[in-house]
Amino acid sequence: MTKIGILSLQGAFAEHATSLQKLGVETLAIRLPQDLENVDGLIIPGGESTTISQLAINYDLMKTLKNLAQNGFPMFGTCAGLILLARNISDSKIETIGAMDIKVQRNAFGRQTDSFETSLPIPVLGEIPFPAIFIRAPIIEETNSTVKTLARLPNGTPVAARQENLLVSAFHPELSSDLRFHAYFLDIVSR
Ligand code: GLN
Repeated sequence: MTKIGILSLQGAFAEHATSLQKLGVETLAIRLPQDLENVDGLIIPGGESTTISQLAINYDLMKTLKNLAQNGFPMFGTCAGLILLARNISDSKIETIGAMDIKVQRNAFGRQTDSFETSLPIPVLGEIPFPAIFIRAPIIEETNSTVKTLARLPNGTPVAARQENLLVSAFHPELSSDLRFHAYFLDIVSR
């Protein structure tokens, strides 16, 4: 049976566990490198990317995460998790797993719109738009040709993408009751 790890250092990890449990999948809280030995994929939750990065370094997880991401291990990063998977961050110097060929900007929405919800067309999830919740969210500024953009804001800004084993969203699918984004990740894991 599929078992998904959820990086549980800081942030919205409990909500991801609930979404996956609703899909009938077993989850494991990941806090130490050896926890990663028994899972088939990893979710990196939203939270504060600077804090998650620092804790991952302190707990000796960063090196293992980098190796796994580069070797085809499925990872799904939401919001701060997207930042942690990005190879480039335009406005900060935090250490990231850095496996995905995207450049991101943290906190890309102004103060008034720090948080908002919008209905986004995401063709790989089907015809019904997805309820996307953005909380002090980043945006994807640049991708290369091996990155597939899965969703854009009405102004064209990419906010969800996939590059082989790596999946990211700038919004929080775990905070909505729509389970299609998590199901899409499980599909990547099962291949
Ligand atoms: N603003 C946070 C950061 O830069 C991300 C916010 C979130 O994950 N909801 O890390």
